[in-house]
Amino acid sequence: MFKELIKKQQNLFYSNKTKSLKWRKEALIKLRDSILRHRDEITDALKKDLDKHPVEAFMSEVAQVLGEIKHAISELPHYTQPQKVKSPITHFMGKSKIYYEPYGIVLIISPWNYPFSLCLNPLVGALASGNCAILKPSEFSSHTANIIEKIIKECFDEDYVFVARGNHTVVDALFEEHLDYVFFTGSVQVGKIIMQQASKNLIPVTLELGGKNPCIVDESADLEISAKRIVWAKFFNSGQTCIAPDYLLVHEKVKDALLIKMQTYLKEFFGNDPLKSENFGKIISQKHYARAKELLNFDSNLGKVYGGRFDDEKLKIEPTLIDFGILSNNPALQLEVMRDEIFAPIMPIFTFSDLQECVTLIRSFQKPLALYLYTQNQNNKDFIINTLSYGGGCINDCIIHIANSNLPFGGVGYSGMGAYHGKYNFETFSHKKAIYESPKFEIPIRYAPYNGNIFGIAKQKILDFIFTRK
Ligand code: NAD
Repeated sequence: MFKELIKKQQNLFYSNKTKSLKWRKEALIKLRDSILRHRDEITDALKKDLDKHPVEAFMSEVAQVLGEIKHAISELPHYTQPQKVKSPITHFMGKSKIYYEPYGIVLIISPWNYPFSLCLNPLVGALASGNCAILKPSEFSSHTANIIEKIIKECFDEDYVFVARGNHTVVDALFEEHLDYVFFTGSVQVGKIIMQQASKNLIPVTLELGGKNPCIVDESADLEISAKRIVWAKFFNSGQTCIAPDYLLVHEKVKDALLIKMQTYLKEFFGNDPLKSENFGKIISQKHYARAKELLNFDSNLGKVYGGRFDDEKLKIEPTLIDFGILSNNPALQLEVMRDEIFAPIMPIFTFSDLQECVTLIRSFQKPLALYLYTQNQNNKDFIINTLSYGGGCINDCIIHIANSNLPFGGVGYSGMGAYHGKYNFETFSHKKAIYESPKFEIPIRYAPYNGNIFGIAKQKILDFIFTRK
């Protein structure tokens, strides 16, 4: 199915054209200009797929890609230079350098929740690094996939960048052919399949996955700021954000006050009827909507629900807070809503009295993609950052660490492997080739015979001096 295409991409790659700085820069400029030309079509497509408000769509999708392109264009001359590194005394007078080498043909598989930026951000890294690319956008966000395809066709020939449309069968078919790198963003379940498929030909992978991201509010936190930022981040894109706070752990002394403030901000952001608000998006598909709705199906004695209404026609679920009460031994921890990533506008809330309870709970799940802590207490900051393993996160904020291209973005363990954005985007799509250039001058220590004469004894002494000295 893709034999011819891959052959064409290989031919282009082997011509070395895609590696020249000029080519890479021109490609990124073309992409940027095309995105700017189609800006309204992109936000229209995101409205159709996810009912995203145009401002939210621009902020979280278009601006992210433009920022990534801008960074790549300005830093490219610097990134593409071989990087000089020191050589040890055993390599006296030699030169050591790291060359950043593009892998070749990279496959980028993306999800539906930020269907524009999660497809094109890695493309920026792939092209900046000198690769050819195949994009496989999600079949669930078809309007956005249409505009992505239009932009790519307008900018590039298919032997350089190609958009492969369809479901997992397209990915299966691509794995039948030669690929040099796979960059996958999506669920843990599919991430495992991708890694298995890639392992057959030892194709390196980046996996950007999901998970249950905890959000902790301790008793010292500024509750006004905490409430506002948590509500914004949780219900942005209707809760369908890989780094959204999944559940809330709040100190028992401040829970009531925080809950009241969160409800106030919900009203301020989405009005009295969020199901009718133009600022509040929809669930992507009937299938995902049905799964999310089912999460609210539990014994009402277990928790007090704030919100919880839905609109079956619009596929919308009202921003919903569920106060489950005390964390310790809470039977609600066995509910589906606490077993898997929520990915919907539903936020379970538990109270704790000691931060160690939060640590124990978080460790009972796989390592999350993000963790958020609201606190004014330096000891608590240090304790959480140094105690728990997670992809990244914020102190006194949620989700915006993703928008700083100087920070690597990625997970750890079940939330993924590898990272990108900014210079890490370039590094991800480049093999670091280590080259040592030897001088004529040499120290004869490496050559046999290693002993048996006076020089043999001296060799061991020199080696001891270099390597065993403390
Ligand atoms: P998904 O794993 O179902 O699909 C992602 C992509 O993989 C799609 O293009 C899909 O067509 C393809 N795919 C699906 N099944 C496949 C298979 N068997 N073989 C090969 N390819 C297959 O994920 P989704 O539902 O589109 O997205 C939601 C998930 O993505 C959530 O778990 C979320 O946390 C995660 N996510 C992670 C990040 C991140 O940056 N870490 C960002 C966004 C979303």
